[in-house]
Amino acid sequence: LPQRGERWMGGRGRGERERERGIVCSDPCLTDVLEELAENSEFNESKGPCLAFRRAASVLKSLPSAVHCLGAIQSLPCLGEHSKAVMEEILIFGRSFKVEEVQSDERYQALKLFTSVFGVGPKTAEKWYRRGLRSLKEILAEPNIQLNRMQRAGFLYYRDISKAVCKAEAKALRSIIEETAHWIAPESILALTGGFRRGKEYGHDVDFLLTMPEMGKEEGLLLCVIERLRDQGILLYCEHQGSTFDMSKLPSRRFEAMDHFEKCFLILRLEEGQVEGDGGLQKDPGESRGWRAVRVDLVAPPVDRYAFALLGWTGSRQFERDLRRFAKKERGMCLDNHALYDKTKVLCVPSDRVQLIIQGANICFRPVLCQQW
Ligand code: ATP
Ligand code: MN
Ligand code: MN
Repeated sequence: LPQRGERWMGGRGRGERERERGIVCSDPCLTDVLEELAENSEFNESKGPCLAFRRAASVLKSLPSAVHCLGAIQSLPCLGEHSKAVMEEILIFGRSFKVEEVQSDERYQALKLFTSVFGVGPKTAEKWYRRGLRSLKEILAEPNIQLNRMQRAGFLYYRDISKAVCKAEAKALRSIIEETAHWIAPESILALTGGFRRGKEYGHDVDFLLTMPEMGKEEGLLLCVIERLRDQGILLYCEHQGSTFDMSKLPSRRFEAMDHFEKCFLILRLEEGQVEGDGGLQKDPGESRGWRAVRVDLVAPPVDRYAFALLGWTGSRQFERDLRRFAKKERGMCLDNHALYDKTKVLCVPSDRVQLIIQGANICFRPVLCQQW
């Protein structure tokens, strides 16, 4: 589900690097700014404004061309008053005072920096800020701070995992994980999902679904894959979450970001020689070691939920949100990462009957097993 002009927003300066590579096409300035305002609202726990700014940024990304005039803004859907005002300010003055105020805010800067560490959410970041900490160095030097295992890995591999992952690296990881899974179960199916499935050139991690063509056979597979990755010396970090999936439960009415499938959040070691093509291994110039650490998510749904898991994990987050709203409001259905429930027919739509075609937006989705990419 490619979104035009989409790029990764996380971390510092990454947008700029991608822009240098000529990846960004529409409104880098306006979308960046709206996403920064969304992030700031998230830090302030202002859910409404956060969503409004995110939606506005998504609208801009989906446009066929950049917005240059005030008139164009008026005709766009889903823009809140605040987003409109900021966009107008930028188009007229070339800058926004509200945005500059946020960008220069000490708390915003600190929280943005702290949450760029894997395993650090807004709550922890806020706690550290309140203790007077302002830099990553200060956090590491503070004896009273107890980092959990995930955060320790986040700091240990900070430089590598805050570097964007390119398509060639995602492909290399796909081969490695697929080979590992096939070594354990030759019929296992690995599908790339997340941002790369939407056609993004760069991502903050690489997401995969792993399943078996026969129901129930996926049980235990993920743990074996993790074990095998460890044996190969590729596994740098692993957080495994067992399944909490309840077959009898209907899709959730509320939008829930998390699902109940078995999954793991990994950091893997990727060797230079494993990455083919122009992109190559993404590392700093002058970096002498021939490997880098990469964040990988692996999700293992049972095959009868494969379509919904694939749809849910393909994202983007905003698209998932809108799709669920559409299912509910326009179709009287309930959608989440596990199922699609038709309230009028009082039944769950079988996974192999799911096909999503949104013509206007040119989106076509058919969850075909064994699909390349
Ligand atoms: P990026 O390139 O930054 O990784 P992305 O779209 O792949 O972009 P991810 O955070 O990797 O972003 O998430 C991919 C998709 O999976 C998103 O749509 C998100 O909603 C979904 N997702 C992420 N984590 C979970 C989770 N724990 N449970 C359910 N769905 C999740
Ligand atoms: Mn991802
Ligand atoms: Mn992910």
